[in-house]
Amino acid sequence: MLRRLPVMQFCWLFFLLLFISGSASATVLTATMTTTYFTVHYDPKDPYLAESAAQVASDELLRLAKDLGYEPEPQRRIPLMVYRTHHSFIKEGGHKDRYVVGTAHTGDERISVDASGAFVTMKTVISHELTHAVVFRILGRHVDALPLWMHEGLAKYQSEPYPDADDALVAQAAADGTLIALADLKKRFPGKRSDLAYAESSSAVRYMVHKYGSSAPKRLLAEIAKSGSFDKALFEATGVVEKEFVSQWAGSISKRYRLLRTWRILSALGGSTMAILAIIAFIIRRKRMARAAREWEWEEFEDSMSRQLRDWPHR
Ligand SMILES: [Zn+2]
Repeated sequence: MLRRLPVMQFCWLFFLLLFISGSASATVLTATMTTTYFTVHYDPKDPYLAESAAQVASDELLRLAKDLGYEPEPQRRIPLMVYRTHHSFIKEGGHKDRYVVGTAHTGDERISVDASGAFVTMKTVISHELTHAVVFRILGRHVDALPLWMHEGLAKYQSEPYPDADDALVAQAAADGTLIALADLKKRFPGKRSDLAYAESSSAVRYMVHKYGSSAPKRLLAEIAKSGSFDKALFEATGVVEKEFVSQWAGSISKRYRLLRTWRILSALGGSTMAILAIIAFIIRRKRMARAAREWEWEEFEDSMSRQLRDWPHR
């Protein structure tokens, strides 16, 4: 499931093979078109939207295939369910969470998307779910070997080129000391903190690409497909084991956070320093004024004495 809130979007993976929507008999997606790699099911009220979705899916599939190391299979078309309204997507998917905008299933390899653009662009949701579908195909029976944080991190990395919102969430959690350990995000994400779980997943994958190159995910997936071992694959792709990788990522986050924290302290100190300087300046000025007043009074006294001496009667 792909879910959209004001600042974040979420996708929930279904690894259950026996997923039943229970609404196939009453679907609004009564029209079908086939492309080289997709069977597109759509609402006949908007064939142009379906054509647009099919084109985006085709372009994204070719890009993802190259990036992740997959050979597109024309004889194995991916079912793409294109909903023209968010309401119909939610209703037919039976989603209790009304912010969900996309789903990908391992069983029938079906991708369902809210293509209305009401919450996220059609391209974002298709790219996200298609990443899952491509990863499912690359890994095959070893799909469960890839931790959930890596699944979702890859999907976000591939579909969201501007991770500012994720970075802000991770930085805030680091500042608060509330980061979730990646080891706790291998199979499921915590419901109430899923936004942070997705943000951390995205951050970890971007760290992998930044540190070990853009082909690291491809090498990782290829090795898991062969051995079924995430640890072995990660070592092949990066030269470090999972514990070390997680430690490196956490270190990079805290390093970035240290800069943020230092800046905050300096900013706070800056405010206090200005207040203290203002008080010191006030005190110095008062002392100068007092001294000036005393000097003036002394001069007045001297003048007065001079006058008195001048006017002394005996003179
Ligand atoms: Zn997802």
